[in-house]
Amino acid sequence: MSGVTCTTCPYCGVGCGVLASPQADGRVTIKGDPDHPANFGRLCSKGSALGETLGLEDRLLAPEVGGVRATWDSALDHVARRFLSAIEEHGPDAVAFYVSGQLLTEDYYAANKLMKGFIGSGNIDTNSRLCMASSVAGHKRAFGSDTVPGTYEDLEQADLVVLVGSNLAWCHPVLFQRLAAAKAARPELRVVTIDPRRTATSELADLHLSIAPGSDVALFNGLLVHLAGVHQVDEAFVAAHTNGLVEALAAATGADIRTTARWTGLDPAEVEHFFRLFAATERVVTVYSQGVNQSATGTDKVNAIVNCHLLTGRIGRPGMGPFSVTGQPNAMGGREVGGLANQLAAHMEIGDADHRALVRGFWDAPRIAERPGLKAVELFEAVRDGRIKALWIMATNPVASLPDADGVAAALDACPFVVVSDVVRATDTTRFADVLLPSAAWGEKDGTVTNSERRISRQRAFLPLPGEAKPDWWQMAEVARRMGHAGFDWDGPAAIFREHAALSAYGNDGRRDFDIGAHAEIDDAGYDALAPFQWPQPAGRPARARFFADGRFFTADGRARFVATPWRAPLARTTAKRPFVLNTGRVRDQWHTMTRTGKTARLTSHYAEPFVEVHPDDARTLGLGAADLAWVESDHGRALLRVLITKRQQAGSVFAPIHWTGQQASLSRVDALVAPRVDPVSGQPASKSTPVSVRRFAAG
Ligand code: SF4
Repeated sequence: MSGVTCTTCPYCGVGCGVLASPQADGRVTIKGDPDHPANFGRLCSKGSALGETLGLEDRLLAPEVGGVRATWDSALDHVARRFLSAIEEHGPDAVAFYVSGQLLTEDYYAANKLMKGFIGSGNIDTNSRLCMASSVAGHKRAFGSDTVPGTYEDLEQADLVVLVGSNLAWCHPVLFQRLAAAKAARPELRVVTIDPRRTATSELADLHLSIAPGSDVALFNGLLVHLAGVHQVDEAFVAAHTNGLVEALAAATGADIRTTARWTGLDPAEVEHFFRLFAATERVVTVYSQGVNQSATGTDKVNAIVNCHLLTGRIGRPGMGPFSVTGQPNAMGGREVGGLANQLAAHMEIGDADHRALVRGFWDAPRIAERPGLKAVELFEAVRDGRIKALWIMATNPVASLPDADGVAAALDACPFVVVSDVVRATDTTRFADVLLPSAAWGEKDGTVTNSERRISRQRAFLPLPGEAKPDWWQMAEVARRMGHAGFDWDGPAAIFREHAALSAYGNDGRRDFDIGAHAEIDDAGYDALAPFQWPQPAGRPARARFFADGRFFTADGRARFVATPWRAPLARTTAKRPFVLNTGRVRDQWHTMTRTGKTARLTSHYAEPFVEVHPDDARTLGLGAADLAWVESDHGRALLRVLITKRQQAGSVFAPIHWTGQQASLSRVDALVAPRVDPVSGQPASKSTPVSVRRFAAG
């Protein structure tokens, strides 16, 4: 293959356009796509190093059964047989798929169709559960649908951007570059960051609020009360387009500035400064990410933020609104096709009998899942206690990335049948696989992804498939056929995309507006040439320019809902034995478990080894010196980490990045420490608040 291929970066949810040019010497030149509306030619450090991550040295290049090389036919037959026998013996809920926001939408569609429509179970969940499930749940509670109202342009048009639990500078770098450029051009644009840690993002901020971990609901309840008290209520909007304000205000009662300051650990003057700024600024965008979502009260945090935008009518207009930015490249695409255990497809609900009938009819499916399946953490609990007899893991490494990672390893060890489809031969998870299936990697596969602003872009192949690697959708379709199911005879990703687009239109009952029916008839050439577009794009009627501009939401009565979010102190309390709160996150130059970004020296030189950030006061108490090693220990596991002493960190909290796995640093898997606690509404793990102890490592 040669020439320039327009494709999309496989890392974060910004979804930048990339121009990839394979060279005669085997190298691939990477540039930002100047025409892509997410990045307009920009790339971050990770994106610009993509060409250095394409080597085949660690690749899984052929199927294996029981550790022995096998043909595709025999491996696929074996998978189909074992899944069929588990279903026959124990019922459809005895099998499960655990997939990934790294999958393309077409892969996700095939997996979801097989599990929910043909096996008849809801047991397909995704590592995106770890990323944005609380935002999905919060959107549904407030809007009646999982609809992200904002766009990247809104950040540039706002006069105040509030970043909550979001280190945008490192985790969504190109969106941060756009914000920084807008602020440089318009100094009146104010930025507030709300995060227990000072980060690279807070360098841009006019005001940084270093709140106590987990106290976001208290802060936004206080803001709601303040806005009502200073008469910043958009009375006409609230009266015409919302329900539930009285209850939401009642739940927030008592949250005056002093009380809010006490609950959040902030200075009352800082709280007042923020509240006044928010009250006085019409164009406000509140961006939030994992610091909000990865919490035992994540959904309440989302709704506490949304409540403030509903109260002021600051939604559905340029430069305003709550805006969840997703971590993964295709977390949003998975949401569109039902990649979460509690969704069906095309944003329809398993719990809705009409939706079930509609999807079943469209798929001509023999059965349809009648109830939601197991969400990520509970899915692996079911594996561990023997309810799941056969599990297929695709494009993810749960033994490194799920909370209580050692417990996940024990679960896989006990599972009678584990299939892993992956690009990499040796991960923490592949060692538990009965069957290994080699998947196509970025640069080799074709399909679509959706970024945080609902923009669907093509990922295009510019490299040949190496060895016997195959796309994930093909693997799912082949197993489905071998299980005796019709409806999986796609000849390529374009056929799946057409079916997905047709279902989105077929299912548009007016209760939501995910409709890309304009693409239901797209031919293969049109799919090849498909330019990035935002959903919805219905057939035969104009796409809405902006969600909620007309004040209509997707609830039964068309009104948005205020959600009462009473403040509750974080459940994970520190104790004398575990006196610190562990916050986990990312570093600028690594992605997830480093299978790609770990291959390039210029990215690994940013942080070369796993570490824990400790405040100087705590370091003194613990007898820790700079660059010492320390054991960080929770009730679930322990990790040996390099000590980094910094005032960025609050006293009483420590921070450790998630990237290093057992492959690089067997004693330093941070997710082995994280408690498997979840938000009760969204099922998203609370990855940022595990009580831990820290002690200096003494050799010998
Ligand atoms: Fe890739 Fe995200 Fe960087 Fe854009 S900002 S180049 S999508 S990692």
